[in-house]
Amino acid sequence: MVAGCGTDSQLLKKVAEIYDWLELQIHRINDLAGVCKSCGSCCDFDTFDHRLFVTSPELMYFAASLGAEDVKAMLAGRCPYNVGGKCSVYEHRFAGCRIFSCNGDADFQSELSESVLAKLKSTCTEFQIPYRYLDLATALNSHARG
Ligand code: SF4
Ligand code: SF4
Repeated sequence: MVAGCGTDSQLLKKVAEIYDWLELQIHRINDLAGVCKSCGSCCDFDTFDHRLFVTSPELMYFAASLGAEDVKAMLAGRCPYNVGGKCSVYEHRFAGCRIFSCNGDADFQSELSESVLAKLKSTCTEFQIPYRYLDLATALNSHARG
């Protein structure tokens, strides 16, 4: 299920809290997190040889934040929200976008990913929604198809 404005506000609050927690971890251990210069290169997945996976509650949060009609399909190897090299949905970007840094510590990123995924998975259990872990293109395209 991917919902828009009808999504449970408690669920949206929970995802926002998880993102807040995530930002705290990243800023707490800056040395390991790396320094992102926001060049946007890694949002061009094919060229950068990078993949981004997103979860069902994140997609629900994303659709509700943007408005379901503004969720775009991903028709090429680049994230459709990368506009002129910049993230046009920065406030609502996914956990993977927040964690990945090309000059960060891979082990730190991997452990942080595991922790965040555990929180998102338990959110699915709490709100009785299916847990999905999809690459960004599949997630956006299936939402766009309705
Ligand atoms: S993580 Fe690296 S490649 Fe990606 S936007 Fe930041 S500086 Fe650019
Ligand atoms: S949501 Fe933003 S940061 Fe994440 S892949 Fe798309 S453009 Fe990049």
